[in-house]
Amino acid sequence: MIDLHTHSTASDGRTSPGDLMWEAKGAGISVLGLTDHDTVAGWAEAAARVEPTGVALVRGMEISAKVRGVSVHVLGYLFDPAAPAMARHRERMLDARLSRAREMVERIGRDFPLEWEAVAAVAEPGVPVGRPHIADALIDVGAVSSRDEAFARFLAPSSPYYVPHWAPQACDVVEWVADAGGRTVLAHPHAPSRGRTVSAADIGALAEAGLFGLEIGHRDNTDLDTLEKLAERHRLVRTGSSDYHGSGKPNRLGENTTAPEVLRALASGCFLEVIHS
Ligand code: AMP
Ligand code: ZN
Ligand code: FE
Ligand code: FE
Repeated sequence: MIDLHTHSTASDGRTSPGDLMWEAKGAGISVLGLTDHDTVAGWAEAAARVEPTGVALVRGMEISAKVRGVSVHVLGYLFDPAAPAMARHRERMLDARLSRAREMVERIGRDFPLEWEAVAAVAEPGVPVGRPHIADALIDVGAVSSRDEAFARFLAPSSPYYVPHWAPQACDVVEWVADAGGRTVLAHPHAPSRGRTVSAADIGALAEAGLFGLEIGHRDNTDLDTLEKLAERHRLVRTGSSDYHGSGKPNRLGENTTAPEVLRALASGCFLEVIHS
């Protein structure tokens, strides 16, 4: 089983990169994509577990971006992490996420006893802060009992506490990753439960810019037929993955998977190789 989209404690997952590799082995995963939000900090620890676990590793990153003001996530795979545009993106997103999270905590703090210290306790310095960290802080101060409840009550885009963060244009991201020798897949391309979605024309424009695939196999997608047709029309590969954030989330590793021939196409000619044991 190939699962190309997972998160670790290097961003907002609950499992360390090394433990994630062991969990992957236990779940019967043969190839794992580690795609933390806007960071590559988990790559080395995960890579060190390829030998002991026998699980192959695809080094990736889930890149926050925008299309006409709509927030999207671009999965970048097997690129040179030192490429200037990629390094600059990580730095800028770290700042953008930090100031956005502080603003959200400030707003929540006017109505509930939440202080920044609670968030700092769950997101170490250097970790790109996401709403799941604010959710964990809300759990720790006893305001909610789960991440889902925190999203429903405080963190969804429709909430008065929600603050958007700066993000680059998705077309630019697709080009940066290509220039850095990697490939891109649009994550959860039609997931209305996460907020506004992009149009078919937007996906066409991303394909034009060099997008390689669509993550059609994702639990939050709707309108799968339309996505299939778009993939067909623009010759995009179809991936599937779990978007696993660690145990405690109601999803499991390998709940959606990617075909071996798709991974072969995705990985061929990239700057980095899939690490096999
Ligand atoms: P952010 O990067 O701060 O915009 O937060 C996005 C992250 O929040 C993604 O990784 C999602 O998996 C997670 N997320 C989005 N909606 C929910 C939800 N309803 N419950 C739990 N996590 C969610
Ligand atoms: Zn996440
Ligand atoms: Fe995402
Ligand atoms: Fe994700």
